Amino acid sequence: MREVRLHDTRSGELQVLTPRDGRQVGIYACGPTVYARIHVGNARPFVVFSQLARFLEHEGYEPTLVVNVTDVNDKIYDAAAAAGVPSAPLAEEMTDRYREDTDRLGLGRPDAEPRATQTIGPIVALIAELIDRDAAYAVDGDVYFRVRSDPEYGSLSKRRPDQMEQGEGVEGADRKEDPLDFALWKAQKEGEDTAWDAPWGRGRPGWHIECSAMAEDLLGVGFEIHGGGNDLAFPHHENEAAQTRCARDAELAQIWMHNGMLQLGEEKMAKSVGNVAALHAVLDEWGREALLMFFASGHYRQPIAFDDDSMRAATARVAGIREAARRLLDGPSPADMAVHKERFFDALADDFNTAKALSHLAAWVSEANRRTGVGRADLEEMLRVLGLEDLAVPETVEVGAEEQELLDRRQAARAERDFAEADRLRDELRTRGFEVRDGPQGPELVPAR
Ligand SMILES: [Zn+2]
Repeated sequence: MREVRLHDTRSGELQVLTPRDGRQVGIYACGPTVYARIHVGNARPFVVFSQLARFLEHEGYEPTLVVNVTDVNDKIYDAAAAAGVPSAPLAEEMTDRYREDTDRLGLGRPDAEPRATQTIGPIVALIAELIDRDAAYAVDGDVYFRVRSDPEYGSLSKRRPDQMEQGEGVEGADRKEDPLDFALWKAQKEGEDTAWDAPWGRGRPGWHIECSAMAEDLLGVGFEIHGGGNDLAFPHHENEAAQTRCARDAELAQIWMHNGMLQLGEEKMAKSVGNVAALHAVLDEWGREALLMFFASGHYRQPIAFDDDSMRAATARVAGIREAARRLLDGPSPADMAVHKERFFDALADDFNTAKALSHLAAWVSEANRRTGVGRADLEEMLRVLGLEDLAVPETVEVGAEEQELLDRRQAARAERDFAEADRLRDELRTRGFEVRDGPQGPELVPAR
């Protein structure tokens, strides 16, 4: 088991992962608000934290990955109103779409995917505790968190009070004791078609409190890793941290990990900017392998530019590995090549540096390409952490008699220097799903990509 170090936003330093309890590692990553299909930028935390869980598992830890679904929210009310449908079925449908779209990444599901609307009990109890402790107050059916009751407020995102805009606009401005305060519970308003009963009135939870409640409900307080995009550090994560600190006298999480944004052009990809590419459309166009390779090619903390060039480069990387794998044998890899594998995993243990890890994987592949009789086991082990283990095992193809005949005719045409006919036969094979590869042992057919 390697010592794993991860960058913690709160301390600004690398922290050694230190499980509370033996090998168990709780990871909570903030998931989507389900008001529309997710874009490829939303997929980055899903990929990063799923791959991190796979890596920890490889090292002998026992991770539990929790990714929540925010299924009650102003954005959902707005989208439902615009579509002229009730909000609950819209959220339900978009939750299903989110699951379908992320299923296609081939990384499996998180261990738990709690929904805000199914966690109302713990949310109400947590708010009640905050009111009891004078860290929150009810007014006209709303409940607000009293930010100045937490002397450590701002310690996660390192902001001064004058940079603390809660993003709630004018909403509740006349009811807040202090503009810094934020909503824990919102009284039901005209046109809002979902609400629950609570001691201070009928309404629904604010966004931040749901994550504190769901994380504690599933992982306890003081769990190992809290993750999410760095656009969530303030106010969302600052508020999550403050709520739990004030209600429990303990920190919600040990390590706060933040992934960088996906950028399209000069800006972060966001629905509010309008520069989005839907995840399902990107998967249709490029496939899951290229997308996972694209994400892994950048350090998770850095912004990463999404464009055709980067996706073509990722596609080429995938093809290079697939091609190399066709020459590998089943079974263990040579012991003198294991150094590349060790470096691959060492890079992941050092703040989950997938970009650096991939350079060691590439070194393994080029070494394998120079040799014969290399076993595939190490390559498969490395790729499994990224969810790309299938690349290590060449697809088997059934070459039918007709395809074999087309291939033979192409050979004959080439022998007669009838290249037009040879090309025509190659194209025909391609329409049947095969690509002709001219190797040292003569031509062979591989699945077309
Ligand atoms: Zn959250």
